[in-house]
This record gives sequence, structure tokens and C-alpha cells, in this order.
Amino acid sequence: MSKPSDEISPRAKKLHFSSIVIDTHDDTTQRLLAPGFDIGVRHTDGSIDIPRMREGGLGAIFFSIWMSGTVTGPEAVKRSLDQFDAVREMVRTHAKDLVLCTTATEIRRAHADGKIAVLIGVEGGHMIDSDLAVLRSYAALGARYMTLTHYLNDEWADSSTDKPAHNGLTDFGKEVVREMNRQGMMVDISHVSDKTFYDALAISQAPIIASHSSCRALCDHPRDMTDDMIKALASKGGVIHINYYMGFLSQEYRDAMKSNSELDKQMQAEIEKRCGKNEDCQLREGDNLVREAVAAGKLPRVEWEAIIQHIDHAVKLVGADHVGLGSDFDGANMPYGMEDVSMIPKITDALLKKGYSEADIRKILGENTLRVMEQVEATAKSLAQSK
Ligand SMILES: [Zn+2]
Repeated sequence: MSKPSDEISPRAKKLHFSSIVIDTHDDTTQRLLAPGFDIGVRHTDGSIDIPRMREGGLGAIFFSIWMSGTVTGPEAVKRSLDQFDAVREMVRTHAKDLVLCTTATEIRRAHADGKIAVLIGVEGGHMIDSDLAVLRSYAALGARYMTLTHYLNDEWADSSTDKPAHNGLTDFGKEVVREMNRQGMMVDISHVSDKTFYDALAISQAPIIASHSSCRALCDHPRDMTDDMIKALASKGGVIHINYYMGFLSQEYRDAMKSNSELDKQMQAEIEKRCGKNEDCQLREGDNLVREAVAAGKLPRVEWEAIIQHIDHAVKLVGADHVGLGSDFDGANMPYGMEDVSMIPKITDALLKKGYSEADIRKILGENTLRVMEQVEATAKSLAQSK
């Protein structure tokens, strides 16, 4: 296999590898839980490991703390703590390459030191067990964003992929957002219902993010953001980080999945057969099955350039200050040509070819995320004495 970074122009390479490139959403934590998995060596499966992050010039990565929304209560807290520990132990045992970071300044320092900054995001409010003390403990362990819901509603917020139960955020949900402001955690509205998004935006005193969502104008999926939502997010300084999942990028792929529920059922049954309840296995076998279905002509092939279309749509809508990258690597089916993190210099190359300025590309690659982090940190400081 040719090295993807060899295919890009020298100018793109120089720009990419001198920028701080940030990916705000990766589900690689599930792999860390598998016995024997070593992030320090190159793998032939999955999308993330240290050699491939180096090859792709990734400067900072948010590891997701995640479990299904069906896991709740103390069990969800226990399992979250296990995942925090797995991420922190990974950093400890690979300290030559990785460093745990919780601020924008620490990310810049890591970059200057030639290390990859590891950050933590909690993907789903169900994991705090409706307890602000748990939320604060997660912040103390390093969590720098929390996605307010996952695929299901939680006790205090509606999800985009569940039936509305709370009319957006409950009063407690609003308290959660305020507490996140105090703790210096970014409020992440990926996965939430449109009403939850507008509630969170109204309550938050700091800019908010979508850590891994794409544009609904290009692919009509409730997980993606409408143009009005992207504009509202940007008007308060926030950033939409584009998700690379084929089903959020391509209307054709979405339509094919929707119209072929039999195929989806078959794939789910086959995944269950191959993996049981092992979530790491489910993600990778699921990807194999999707690629088999594409090869058999049962699903359309989505090329990586679709990512560029979504970036460009959002930039045309709200400008280059409000767009970033949130791949969903190791958590979703990636488009062809963007199977792993080593391929991300192609994004820089494509944006240059489109005529984007180097300054704008640096913003999209990571500076916008750093700016939001700084604003969230400043808000926390200003609220430090508040009740
Ligand atoms: Zn997600």
C-alpha cells in the first residue's frame, strides 16, 4: 500500500504537518478494553494507533468514553471509570508519544514537544447517573466535553434518534449545562434532538460544539445539523466538527440503508453471531460486513471526498472559523479513501486545491477547537466563585 501522505502536494504536506491537527471524536477506547491491544504498534484493522497517528500528522485526539444508553445508573458510572482508567493507563504506558491534556495551552505544548495530545470526551449524559458530583469527578479525571445524549434519550435530555420525552432539556439538564460551564467542559450537542440543541445553546455561557456531526442539507439524517442550527451554533462562537461516517455524509447511502431494512437486520444478526456482546468486535465486524455489502452492490460506495463537501458546505454557510474535524474513527463505517487516520493529510490537500487559504485550513484542522477550548476555560474561570 502506498503511503497516503506521499500522494499529496509538498505544500499541503508542509502545511498539514506544521499545523495542530485535532480530531474531536474517536471511539478507540473500546479497543483499549480488549485484552492485549497495544496502541503503540501498527494494526491492519481499526483506524487509530500511534504509528498511523504519526503518519497522519494528528496532534490531538479526543478518546470517547462510551457505552450504550441502555446501560444506566451505578453500572454506567463503574464502566465509565474503567474507560477513564484505560485511557489514562494507555498514556502512562506510552509516555514517549502521548501526553494527557486538558487545556488548549497543554495541547500547544504537547505539539511543541513532538507528542500527541490525548483528551477525553464523555459520549452520553446517561453516564453521570443524574448526579452533578459524578460529572465533576469526570471533569477532574480529565473529561473536557460531554455529549448530552447518545442514541437514546437520557434522564434529562432528548436524543435525535429517540422519541421526544423531555421537550429538549429538563430543568436538571439545564443544571448540567451550567455545571459544565463551571467545570470548563465543552457542551457537545452531537446526538441530541434539535430542541435539546437550542436549549443547550440558550443556556450555555460559553461556545458549544458538535464533536462529530455533519450537514443535514447534504444528508437528511437527524444526527446531522440543519443549516439553521449551524448558523445558530456559529453565532455563539461554536464549531461543528464534521463526522466521516458514510451514513451521515451521503444521502444515497442513507436512502439505501433506510429502504433495505432487511439488509440491516441481516447484518445485525451476523454481527451478534460473530461477536456476542463484545462491542469492540461488533464495531470492526460491522465494518467488514458493510464493505462486503458495498462490494456486492447492495450499498453505494461513498468516497472520502464527501467529507470535503460537508466541510465546504459549512464554511460557505458560516465561514472557516466554525468548522473542524470529528472523524468517528473506530466507531463508524468510514468512506473509501479515509479508512484510517494516516489518510487525513488528504483533507488538507483537497482544501488547498479548492482554493482555501492556509490560515483558514489551519483553523479547520485544529485552531478553531483550540479557540473554543480557550473560551470555555475563560468562562469557567469567570464562574469560579459562582454557585
Ligand atoms: Zn457518536
